[in-house]
Amino acid sequence: MARKKTARFTGDYETLYRRYMELTREVDHLSTLREIGLAISGSLEMSETLPIIANVVQGALDVRRLTILTPDRAGGLLLPVIAKYGGDLITRERLEEESEPRKGSPAGQAMDTRTVVLTHAGGANQAFVPLVAKNETLGVMVLQDRRDGQAFTPDDAQLFQQLGSQIAIAMHNAELYALAVTDGLTGLYVRRYFDLRMQEEFAQAQRYRRKFSLMLFDIDHFKKFNDTHGHQTGDMVLRQFAKLLQQNTRRSDICCRYGGEEMAIVLPETDMQEAALSANKLCALIRGHVFSGAKDESLSVTTSIGVAVFHPALKGPDDMVQASDQALYRAKELGRNRVEVAGL
Ligand code: GH3
Ligand code: MG
Ligand code: MG
Repeated sequence: MARKKTARFTGDYETLYRRYMELTREVDHLSTLREIGLAISGSLEMSETLPIIANVVQGALDVRRLTILTPDRAGGLLLPVIAKYGGDLITRERLEEESEPRKGSPAGQAMDTRTVVLTHAGGANQAFVPLVAKNETLGVMVLQDRRDGQAFTPDDAQLFQQLGSQIAIAMHNAELYALAVTDGLTGLYVRRYFDLRMQEEFAQAQRYRRKFSLMLFDIDHFKKFNDTHGHQTGDMVLRQFAKLLQQNTRRSDICCRYGGEEMAIVLPETDMQEAALSANKLCALIRGHVFSGAKDESLSVTTSIGVAVFHPALKGPDDMVQASDQALYRAKELGRNRVEVAGL
C-alpha cells in the first residue's frame, strides 16, 4: 500500500513539477515580452524606434549580437538597418556592406516562411526571426550567441516568434507615423509636425534656457514663375528647393513645408548669430543654384527668409512664428532675395 501511494505521489509530483516549470517559462516569456513591449512602444520615430529595439531586445535576451535586416526595394537583398555588437550600437550607414541575399540564406528562409529559423554553424548559434505585422513581413531580426553559451531551443524560438510580431508592429507604427508627418511633394515634415516640434522646442528652451531659432522661407514671385514655366515645373522646383534645405542643414534641424511655397526650419541649439549666418548661406545657395524644369530648362529662383530666435520674453511658439513672419515680410518689402532677422 505504502509503495503504491509513494509511486502515485511521485507521478503527480513529476507532472506537477513539469507543469510548474512550463508555467515558470511562460511567465518568463510573458514578462520579457511585456518588458520589451513597453520599452519599444514608447517611440514613434523610426530613428528612435530601431535603436530602442536593438538595445532593449539584446539586453532582455542576453545575446551577443543582434541585427535587423529589411528587404531592399527590389526585394532580392536583405540590408542591415541597425545592429548591436556587444556594447556597440551600429547604424545603417556603417552597415552597408553587410547585406545578405534573400534567396538561399537562413534570413531569407525566415522571411519567406514567416517562421523562426535556428542555425548552428561554425560555432555560432543564430536565430533568424521574421518581423511580421499586419500580414506583411517587414524584415528579419538575427540573434547570435546567448551569453550563457547555450544553443537556442525550440522554446526560445516560440518566444522569438511572438517578439518578432511585437517588434514588427512597432516598426509598422513608425512607418505609418513617418508617412503621416511627411509632405508628399517635398518629403519635408508637414505643418502639423512643425507646430508640434515648435511647441516641444519652445518648452525645452524655456525650461532649460536652451537656444533655438526659426527660419521661414518664402520663394520670391513664385506665382509668376508658375505662370511662366507651368505648375509642373513649379512642383519640380519645390522638390529641389526642399532637397537643398535638407542637404545643407544639420541632421538635428527640422525642415518643414509650412504651406504652399513656404518652408520653415526649426534649429535647436542655435543662437541668433549662427541662425543669421546659416540663413544667409542658404539664401546665397538658392540664388546660385541651377534648378531643372520639366522641359530640361535651367532655371533659377530666389527666396526671402525671416529669422527669429527664442528669448524668454516670448509667450509661446506662436509669438516666435509671428516674429519670423514679420521679419520675412520685411525681407520682401526690402526687395526680396535677402534675410531679415527679428529684433528682440
Ligand atoms: P512673393 O512671395 O515674392 O511676394 O510672390 P509670390 O508670387 O511667391 O507670392 P504668393 O505667396 O502670393 O504666391 C505663392 C504662389 O506659390 C502661388 C502658387 O501658385 C504657388 N504655389 C503654392 N503652392 C504650390 C505648389 O504646391 N506647387 C506649385 N507649382 N506652386 C505653388
Ligand atoms: Mg507665399
Ligand atoms: Mg512667394
